[in-house]
Amino acid sequence: MTMVLWGVRRNLPVAMPGVPAWSMAPLLCAASTVFFSLDQRLPGFVVMLAGNALLMSGLGLFYFGSLRFWHQSCPWRSWTAGGAALLAAMSYFYCFQPDFRARTMLFAGSMAVCAFAHARLLQRHGKGFSCRLSVIVLATLCGVSMLRAATTFWLDAPDSTRVMQMPMQQLYAVSFHLAALLLSIGGLLMLSERVRYEFEHQASHDSLTGAFTRRTLFQAGEREWTRWTRYGRPFSVLLLDIDRFKSINDRWGHPTGDKVLQECTTLIAALLRSGDALGRYGGEEFVVVLGETDGAAAWMAAERIRQALEQHRAPDLPAYTASIGVATAAAGDTGFGNLLKRADMALYQAKASGRNRSIAL
Ligand code: GH3
Ligand code: MG
Ligand code: MG
Repeated sequence: MTMVLWGVRRNLPVAMPGVPAWSMAPLLCAASTVFFSLDQRLPGFVVMLAGNALLMSGLGLFYFGSLRFWHQSCPWRSWTAGGAALLAAMSYFYCFQPDFRARTMLFAGSMAVCAFAHARLLQRHGKGFSCRLSVIVLATLCGVSMLRAATTFWLDAPDSTRVMQMPMQQLYAVSFHLAALLLSIGGLLMLSERVRYEFEHQASHDSLTGAFTRRTLFQAGEREWTRWTRYGRPFSVLLLDIDRFKSINDRWGHPTGDKVLQECTTLIAALLRSGDALGRYGGEEFVVVLGETDGAAAWMAAERIRQALEQHRAPDLPAYTASIGVATAAAGDTGFGNLLKRADMALYQAKASGRNRSIAL
């Protein structure tokens, strides 16, 4: 799984935080298994300390990988200090007051806490099958670990050993191994979901302004057109063009022009309802598809937007205005493209009659 995750990471088109930690985690879990399997050949203390430290680090890295993947801060210091304290306590119960039950309770209890924190993180931030799979795995691991910690005083003696063939101990060991495998698979699935989301987002949103791209805008328009032809639901289109934008670029420079485009998008978006679609049609031209909106309401919406742009003053940006063409679906229209053409004609009239105005056709 380490090699798979590492290979996938190298080929990712975009950087994904958390994947390096995820790819190291199964390696540490596998290394801990190697130490435990050398039980008879290495000193018992080395096996206990290295095996448990590696297993704990492996499961901790899965958690930290998820924290980074979901853009959360990583409490490296406190968890490392907690891990060191746990190992120190386990060493005490190995060397000075040998007690298998105390060691089991400490370790299984700590693993339950780690699995619980990880499951909660994924439940809060993640969506989809990949997160649900990982949450189920972590919840199972947490439950089994708690059971192991709680039952050790009944099932074990202070001088028990880890290799005892006891169903509870076997269930506990199997749950760790399966968790390492399934969490790696969960990570891979989360990764592919994220990559798909990023690509879909890039394809549907303009990179400068965050407004919809033409493709998504036309999809929204076609959807409204279908509703209009089938059910007669009214809808309107606004075509907005910033006035004399070229002179803003010429006087203030292109970077400022870009900021004006971003700010203009934010201002328009703040005035729209959740179902409306705002897209960047071209350079400094925007289209708004207004569902469930007749001509009068569309013209009022256009005026609201135009006035907001006219009145807005940002500290380091020039003042600017916009002209807006408004068109509402009506008998005789042949499609969304045709409606857009009418909005374009209205915009042309708004420009010709002095700019900074809304005209409906
Ligand atoms: P009008 O009032 O007639 O619309 O005049 P205008 O200057 O706004 O129109 P024109 O079409 O002549 O100029 C549009 C300018 O928009 C030209 C182009 O350089 C600029 N532009 C297009 N895309 C971008 C962009 O992404 N960033 C910046 N800064 N400028 C852009
Ligand atoms: Mg233009
Ligand atoms: Mg313009």
